[in-house]
Amino acid sequence: MEISGLNIKFLTGVGEKKAAILNTELGIQSYEEMLYHIPYKYIDRSKIYKIADLNPHLPYIQVKARIRDLKSLGAGKSLRMSATAYDETGELELIWFKGFKYLNSQIETEKEYLIFGQPSAFNRKLNIIHPEIDLFEKASHLLSGFQAVYPTTEKMKKAFLNSKAISKIQGAIFKNINGKIPETLPAWFIQKYRLLYLHEALYNVHFPESPETLRKALFRLKFEELFYIQLNILKLKYKRKIAFKGCPFPLIGDYFNTFYHQYLPFPLTNAQKRVIKEIRQDCGSGKQMNRLLQGDVGSGKTLVAVMCMLMALDNHYQTCLMAPTEILANQHFTTISEMLKDMGIRIALLTGSTKKKERTEIHQQLADGSLQIIIGTHALLEDVVAFNNVGLVIIDEQHRFGVAQRAKLWHKNNIPPHVLVMTATPIPRTLAMTLYGDLDVSVIDELPPGRKPITTLHAFDTKRQEIFKFIEQELKKGRQAYIVYPLISESEKMDFRNLEEGYQKINEYFLSKGYKTSMVHGKMKAVDKEEEMRLFVTGETQILVATTVIEVGVNVPNASLMVIESAERFGLSQLHQLRGRVGRGAEQSYCILMTSYKISNDSRKRIDTMVSTNDGFEIAEADLKLRGPGDIEGTQQSGLSCNLKVANLGKDALILNEASRIASSLLEEDPDLQKEENTVFATQIRRLFKTKIKWRYIS
Ligand code: ADP
Ligand code: MG
Repeated sequence: MEISGLNIKFLTGVGEKKAAILNTELGIQSYEEMLYHIPYKYIDRSKIYKIADLNPHLPYIQVKARIRDLKSLGAGKSLRMSATAYDETGELELIWFKGFKYLNSQIETEKEYLIFGQPSAFNRKLNIIHPEIDLFEKASHLLSGFQAVYPTTEKMKKAFLNSKAISKIQGAIFKNINGKIPETLPAWFIQKYRLLYLHEALYNVHFPESPETLRKALFRLKFEELFYIQLNILKLKYKRKIAFKGCPFPLIGDYFNTFYHQYLPFPLTNAQKRVIKEIRQDCGSGKQMNRLLQGDVGSGKTLVAVMCMLMALDNHYQTCLMAPTEILANQHFTTISEMLKDMGIRIALLTGSTKKKERTEIHQQLADGSLQIIIGTHALLEDVVAFNNVGLVIIDEQHRFGVAQRAKLWHKNNIPPHVLVMTATPIPRTLAMTLYGDLDVSVIDELPPGRKPITTLHAFDTKRQEIFKFIEQELKKGRQAYIVYPLISESEKMDFRNLEEGYQKINEYFLSKGYKTSMVHGKMKAVDKEEEMRLFVTGETQILVATTVIEVGVNVPNASLMVIESAERFGLSQLHQLRGRVGRGAEQSYCILMTSYKISNDSRKRIDTMVSTNDGFEIAEADLKLRGPGDIEGTQQSGLSCNLKVANLGKDALILNEASRIASSLLEEDPDLQKEENTVFATQIRRLFKTKIKWRYIS
C-alpha cells in the first residue's frame, strides 16, 4: 500500500476543514506525512498524584478523585462550568468553557475519575482548565505508561486539533491500513542491525508499549533518517572517485613562485601553509578534488584561494571564484586584482549587474581561454558561461550554495574541475557530515598574528547615549564603526523605518561632531550601494549604518567597532559573522550587542554565548543546541534538505556516526547500489531525494 498516496481528509474525524489546517500549519496531507509527525515528548501516565502534592509549576499530571458541585457560572463569553474534584488529601477546581451538555450527562458524583491536565492557579486556588476525565474503572488502558504529546499551533488548537486529536488521527490511520506499512529497509539489514520493523517502530512512537520499545522505535527512525542522508551524500563521493578523473596539476610554476617570493603581502600562517599543501596534494593526485575549507572569519581564506588559483594557472587551466553576493564578489575582485596587479594575469568580474556588452565580452574570453581568472556571483552558473578549460572552481559560500549547484559547476569542463568550498561559519561536525559529507575537509585553525581578541559587551537600548559617546571616543582615535540593524522580511516595513530613523539620529549626532556616515541596505540600487561602501572603505565616511548585507566578507581593517541593534533578533552564527567584520587590524576591537530590556531566555543565552567566547566552533555548537539544525541559517536553501523529522543533529551524533560508517561500508562494496540485496536502498534514495533539490539560487 502506498501510504504517501492516501489523504488524511478521508479519515473519520478529519474532513476537509481540519485537513486544510493540518496542511497549511504542518504541511501534512498524506498518511505518511502524518505518521512522521513525531511526538516531541511523552507524558508518563503511570504516576497518579495526590491533590495535596500538586502545584501550578507541574506539567501534565493526573489524579484519582471524585467530582462534586458541577455548576454553570457567568454568562455570555465568560459562561463556564465548574466542579470540585477531591481526594482524601485535598481539593481542586475543574473548569470547562465548552462541552457542557456532555458534562451534565456524564458526571456522576458517586464515582471515581481519572482526571488529567495541566494544573494552574487562580486566586491562590489550584485548578485544571479543560481536564480530560475518564471513569477510573474504565481508564486502566490510559495508565499503562507513556502518552505521546504532539507539537500543535494556535490555529490547530482553535480547530480542536490538540495533541489528543492528533493521537486519535494516528490511531485511525493504523486501523485503516490494517497494520501494514511498507518497509523501507531490506530485511537482511534490519536483522543484521537488530532494528525494529518500520511498522512496529512507527506504531510505538505514537503508542509506546513500553519505555524499552519506545527507545528502540525512536532509534530505528532516527537511524534510518540519518542513514539515508549519509548514503545519498556519500554515494556522490564514491561515484566521483570512480568516475571522475581530475584535471592533473603536476606543476608548481612561475605564477605561484613569483607571487610567493615577490608579492605575498605577509608571511603565511602555519595553518594557511598546511591547507595549501593539502590542496596541492589533492589536486596533484589525478582524482578530482572536492574539498571544504573551514576557517573562522578573518582566518585568511582569501589568500589561500589566491594561491590555489595560481596553481591552476601554472598548469594552464582557467579558474573561477564564486561569491554569494555582489558586494562580496566585488570585494574579492578588488583585493585579488590588487594582489596580482604586477603579474600580468587577465582577470575579470561577472555579476548580475555586469553590463550587456562587457558580459558578452567576458563570455567570449572565457570560451576562447584568454581570461584566466573570473570572479563573480551566481551569474557564473548560467548555461551561457562556458570555459575553455577550467581546472579549479572556488566557492566562497557561507552555506548558500548546495550540492546541486556544486554539481552544476563540475559540468563546466570535460574533466570536472577541482572544487574548493570555503565556509566562514565553522559548522559542527554533525552538520558538516550532513551537508558536506561528500567533501574532504581542511581547517584553518589559526588567526593571523597580532590580532587582539574582540571585546564583546551587552547593553540595553536605554544606554544608547552612552554608546554614542563611546563610538565618538573610538572615532576620535581615527577608527571606524559599523552599526547594524536587522531587516527581516516579516516585518520589513517596520524594520525599514527603524533603520531610517536610526540613520537619521546617528547622522545628526555625529555630523555635529564632524563625522560622516554611509548607509547600505538590501533595497538600494547596486551602484548606490557600491558608492556608499566605497566611501566607507576609503575612510571618507567613518560610520557605516547597514542591514545584514555586510555580514558576508567585507574587510575594512580600520573598522574596530561593531554595534548591533536589536541583537536579540539575530541568530548566533549571524552575530558571530557580523562580529568578524571587526578585529581585523592591530587595534583593540569592540562588539556591542544592543537589546531591549525584556528578552527571551533563548536570546539571553545567545547574547551570553557571544559575550563569553570568540571561538567560532564553540558558537556553532551552541547554535545547533539552541536552534536545532533545521533553523541554522542557510541550511534550508542548501539544496540538501536538513529538515530532519526525527533525528536531531545536536543530540544524535552517535547515531549519525554509526549510520555514516555503515553507509560507507555498503558503498565501498557496491557504489551504485546495484546488487540485488541493495535495491531497496536505491529505490528509497530516489524516492527521498528526487524532489528536494531546489534550483532557486541558480535561476
Ligand atoms: P576570511 O577567512 O574571513 O575570508 P580574509 O581572507 O578576508 O579572511 O582575511 C582577513 C584579513 O587577514 C585580511 O585583511 C587579510 O589581508 C589578512 N590576512 C590574511 N592572511 C594573513 C597573514 N598570513 N598574516 C597577516 N594577515 C593576514
Ligand atoms: Mg572571506
